[in-house]
Amino acid sequence: MKRLLLLVLILSISTACQDSPDNPTENIYVAESEFTPELLPLVEGKTVKNIIFLIGDGTGIAQLTSGQYATVGPDGLLHMQTMPVTGFVKTHSSDNLITDSASGATAYSCGLKTYNGAIGVNPDKTPCKTILELAEEKGLSTGLVSTSSITHATPASFAAHVESRSMEDEIAAQFINSGAEVLLGGGVEYFTAEGREDSTDLISEFSDKGYQVLLNADDLANSTSDRLLGLFASDGLERIEGEPSSAAMTSKALEILNKNENGFFLMIEGSQIDWGGHGNSAEYVINEVQDFDAAVKAALDFAQEDGETLVVVTADHETGGMTLQRQIADGDSLEIYWTTGYHTGTPVPLMAYGPSATEFMGWRDNTYVGKKLAELLQVGELPILIEN
Ligand code: MG
Ligand code: ZN
Repeated sequence: MKRLLLLVLILSISTACQDSPDNPTENIYVAESEFTPELLPLVEGKTVKNIIFLIGDGTGIAQLTSGQYATVGPDGLLHMQTMPVTGFVKTHSSDNLITDSASGATAYSCGLKTYNGAIGVNPDKTPCKTILELAEEKGLSTGLVSTSSITHATPASFAAHVESRSMEDEIAAQFINSGAEVLLGGGVEYFTAEGREDSTDLISEFSDKGYQVLLNADDLANSTSDRLLGLFASDGLERIEGEPSSAAMTSKALEILNKNENGFFLMIEGSQIDWGGHGNSAEYVINEVQDFDAAVKAALDFAQEDGETLVVVTADHETGGMTLQRQIADGDSLEIYWTTGYHTGTPVPLMAYGPSATEFMGWRDNTYVGKKLAELLQVGELPILIEN
């Protein structure tokens, strides 16, 4: 397929106004439509053995659809759009109608509402058991994949408990005892003696625990261990030579986690779709949606082959108030508008494929999604507070 690429910015936002709606337009090229794929079939009569949960941070309908227009055109579908079950997710947090990624992810990981900034704790700052921790206790394998630092709010909420998302040093330290077999993303600076406030060398502590530490795409491709800590950038991935794609990280994670006959839980985050929204850059958003959708394809290919894997794709919130506003000239480009440089309260789409996917139809609260995932994986009933 010809990926008519894309997006030269014609008007482009003025560099000075990333945060303001004064000059919110940007044009993206629309790709030619080259195919109209079928939706995948419903999977019936099977129970859920494995869950692949994909979070496109900041990914509303407009982010997803602009990715579709730029990649496969008006008549095409992204891989995530071929999933047969769709729903909507309400995203408000316990203290704000506009959530951030920490409370948004904690709603999924712990099945409860909490305040913006909270990582795996409830509004009283009491730690809450996560679906990843429950899965580990039941003998399943688990993994986290992100394109931000692996200690960033979204992945952190599945395997750490701190009162503020800014405590990335502490989050990295807590990961050592999470039991997660696979941790792949950026953020090496939170693991090295030079990068950490307390000068602890977490890299050797992870090695002592049996993790193979990977620093680039070649390391990932050639890895031999069944425990991996991949830290492919100082902080977030920079999309430069030598870094793995989300699809490469996903495929490697699936290869390892699938060795456990009890099943697995894997969370994969398209972290930087949100960052494109904060920057009011449709080009950034679309590149990240394409990277994320390739990871969705890897997940769907695995699930179709496996038959007992539930794949759920959703977001934590929308970012930027992105709108596809106006067709330009002869229809080969589209004008994008933004209403904010922060998150919005617009509900986000959810797509599901695999056994019990229909449990996610309809308008659901984000906490319902987390609770239902734990229930279907048969690892426990969320929410659970961890009392000391
Ligand atoms: Mg995030
Ligand atoms: Zn954000």
